[in-house]
Amino acid sequence: MFIEIKQVNKQYMNKENEPVDILKDINLSINKGEFISILGPSGCGKSTLLNIVAGLTKATNGNVLVSDKLIEKPGKDRGMVFQQAALFPWLNVTENVTFPLKKEMSKKDAQDVAKKYLKMVQLGKYMDHYPHELSGGMQQRVSIARALAMNPDILLMDEPFGALDEQTRSRLHTQLESIWTETKKTILFVTHSISESIKLSDRIIVMGTKPGTILQDIKVDIPRPRD
Ligand code: ADP
Ligand code: ADP
Repeated sequence: MFIEIKQVNKQYMNKENEPVDILKDINLSINKGEFISILGPSGCGKSTLLNIVAGLTKATNGNVLVSDKLIEKPGKDRGMVFQQAALFPWLNVTENVTFPLKKEMSKKDAQDVAKKYLKMVQLGKYMDHYPHELSGGMQQRVSIARALAMNPDILLMDEPFGALDEQTRSRLHTQLESIWTETKKTILFVTHSISESIKLSDRIIVMGTKPGTILQDIKVDIPRPRD
């Protein structure tokens, strides 16, 4: 199994310093190349679960394995895309994408890689633009290119299109589908939208709240595209 989430629990301390269960008994096995949605109401622990897989948050108990290796911190094998693109405003589009690549390769190679992925997200013409010159959807495409440029096996996406209007979101769905087909990444996509999860993913993990648990694991067997 590519990703194994084993008996993961997460607790936080409340104001009275009592432990509160946020995630309880989360078990999940994920194959390479799957496109999985983690679907559930706001506050059920989706982001917490994604952050544990990312290595940004520690589970209280249990563990996450990727290719049999224990996840303890962020790594190049896992690219992240958040709801806010969080681009550096003083860097242009290309520089935003090459920024994390600098330690990995020469400047020239980094620029070639940035170009490849910016073309993939259809921003080839905007490589010299600055973030404030781009729409929200375009900024989010830059952040997807930035994540892809590190060539991670896994893309962890936390409500990446949640702040966008319906039309833009729909266009980005189509783009993400072709990126997934082209790159064969394993994608974990957090959303509270049922329609978004059905449209995009192969498999939907439905979570319930208080505490966050997995209620259902549903295989989506509808041919693509699903408009
Ligand atoms: P979701 O992504 O499904 O909206 P989150 O994972 O963001 O849910 O949050 C799950 C629950 O954990 C929420 O009730 C939230 O208030 C709580 N929570 C998240 N982070 C912390 C924290 N650092 N300290 C205390 N409670 C937290
Ligand atoms: P997205 O759905 O990715 O947000 P938009 O609907 O914002 O895309 O934009 C569609 C196209 O219009 C873009 O690919 C770009 O060519 C152009 N465009 C939109 N907003 C801007 C902007 N602020 N500056 C320059 N070009 C823009």
